[in-house]
Amino acid sequence: MLMNLGGDESRRIKALQALLAPDESRDEVLRKFVQLASQALGIPGSFISVLDDEHQFVRASRNFDLKESSRDDSLCRHVVDSDIPVVVPDTLHDPRFSTHPLIIGEPFIRFYAGVPLKNRERIVLGTLCVTDTRPHTFSTEQLATLKLLGELVMSFLEAWHAASFTDVVTGLPNRQRLIRDLQFLAAAGDTTLRRLVLIDCIDMPRAYELARSMGMLPVENLLKDMATLLPLRLRPGVDDRIYTVATGRFAILTGAKSRLSASYVATVLQGISADLEEGISVELTAYTGETAFMPGSFSAQEILRQGVSALHEAIGQGVSAMSFNESFDASRTEDFLLMNDLAVALEKNEGLYLVYQPKVCLQTGVPLGLEALIRWKHPTRGELSPAMFIPLASQTNLVSALTEWVINSVIAQQKAWRSTTIRLPVSVNVSEMDFAREGYADYLEDKMIKAGLPTALLGIECMETESILESPAALKGLEMLKQRGFALSLDDFGIGYSNISYLRRMPLDVIKLDKSLISELSSDTASRIIARSIIKMLKDLDYTVLAEGVENAEIVSTLRQYGCDQAQGFFYSKPLPVEELQSWLSWKLRDRLYG
Ligand code: C2E
Ligand code: CA
Ligand code: CA
Repeated sequence: MLMNLGGDESRRIKALQALLAPDESRDEVLRKFVQLASQALGIPGSFISVLDDEHQFVRASRNFDLKESSRDDSLCRHVVDSDIPVVVPDTLHDPRFSTHPLIIGEPFIRFYAGVPLKNRERIVLGTLCVTDTRPHTFSTEQLATLKLLGELVMSFLEAWHAASFTDVVTGLPNRQRLIRDLQFLAAAGDTTLRRLVLIDCIDMPRAYELARSMGMLPVENLLKDMATLLPLRLRPGVDDRIYTVATGRFAILTGAKSRLSASYVATVLQGISADLEEGISVELTAYTGETAFMPGSFSAQEILRQGVSALHEAIGQGVSAMSFNESFDASRTEDFLLMNDLAVALEKNEGLYLVYQPKVCLQTGVPLGLEALIRWKHPTRGELSPAMFIPLASQTNLVSALTEWVINSVIAQQKAWRSTTIRLPVSVNVSEMDFAREGYADYLEDKMIKAGLPTALLGIECMETESILESPAALKGLEMLKQRGFALSLDDFGIGYSNISYLRRMPLDVIKLDKSLISELSSDTASRIIARSIIKMLKDLDYTVLAEGVENAEIVSTLRQYGCDQAQGFFYSKPLPVEELQSWLSWKLRDRLYG
């Protein structure tokens, strides 16, 4: 089942969420229940509460004013934790209650009886309880009444909940349910590629026309028949789910590789006809539209919109099946599959590894630091360059998981190097999405402290100047990183957004000149003039300037003349796997010692 992703825990959370969502008409009924409980039992106070891991929320109450408390401070947690009714005739004589603020202070509760509210899956969600400011006895009949009321409350809640997520005519899960299922997949971090297929069997204008001439009942019967027929014809798997999303319109949520594609569905549903009344049957033409997606990469509404858009495209063109944005669909699906593989690679830590490229002092050639660059040996496609997957990953939240992986690997490597002579700062490429996150600098600092490493050993390279400048959260994030002692570099300077005056708004240490600017130095006079003036300005502003993509000795000497500080490029070394890097470094060291 789609909805059972996280097992029991996720079911509990979902059931709780349904109850925690505000709903005035539901709570109005709950208030009648608490009134009934007080009247039937002759006890003045009563309330219904919901408990999650941290809080208690009072959904309806009578003579009891508290609306919310911490879970630990709630009286009801004893009922929820023990999963059985709790009756306390005199709270002052019960060590669990006697020192409680609601007992020794307002409203001075002396009597408490509560029963668990348990749903059909036996998950305890909260309590129904009665309270008084006087001690009481509580007979077995009274307890039985309270239990019965508790069961009634729960049946009501379940029916209420089911009604709002079920289409009344077809009995299938409805559009709200689809939206919620999509949101749930995204929230659960599910990265399995999925497909949403929209099916139109009877369009709205036609449905209204039929209803006008024949009444609503035959139309509703037809829709019911469709709802029965769909699973029989399509034979959905256990992970597939069929919804009614509008009158005569259905949707299937399925896996991206499942047989239930739009064209398959359209083919299977060809030539169906339905009996409206004796003797009157209508031919139904099925149109389908599909969209492939990774949960979380788009909002639920957007996924549905794409499906509907594909469906409308099919209807408009008079073809039975269409994919969303069909011209791009092939490559899009490819991309999705690749991102799916990346999610798996990150999760299982398989196929990804880092290479390190030295940064050297332009004057002396001494290594001053390293840049970590990711590599991926894909199980079937072989070695992939970051250009093939980083831009795609950056469009989804996968890039954060990737950055996390890179940083963890770098920290592990730095830790391993602690017992050697290698003591070089390593910089990582971080997306704005990462450091704009609240508390990111603290989080990174914490990681470094735990590994016993100074923050100066980790550098942050950022790009996307424009979006950083537009985002107060990103600017603040950079500021915090700087304060914590991480060195900040601006990557790819010299292409795109390179207005020097704006640099001052970012707390940068190093500016990395893009390789496109550097590679032209040997051939083009204009480029030389530009590079020279950029380097001079950056030096005047006290930045450390690093040239990327340095490929030959001529460029090295030009850059030296211009006052550039550091360089990185094939002339010194390609990005290297750890072992090769270590021998490169020791060779460099020998070089320095002997000549
Ligand atoms: P970048 O950060 O500008 O990295 C420098 C790129 O230039 C690297 O390409 C490097 O291999 C290449 N390079 C180094 N020296 C020379 C040279 O002398 N000549 C030429 N032609 N190229 C040189 P790579 O490793 O393919 O990475 C490409 C881009 O992918 C990187 O550009 C960076 O933006 C991104 N990337 C790589 N690893 C990561 C990562 O771990 N996380 C993130 N978010 N992005 C990464
Ligand atoms: Ca970089
Ligand atoms: Ca760069």
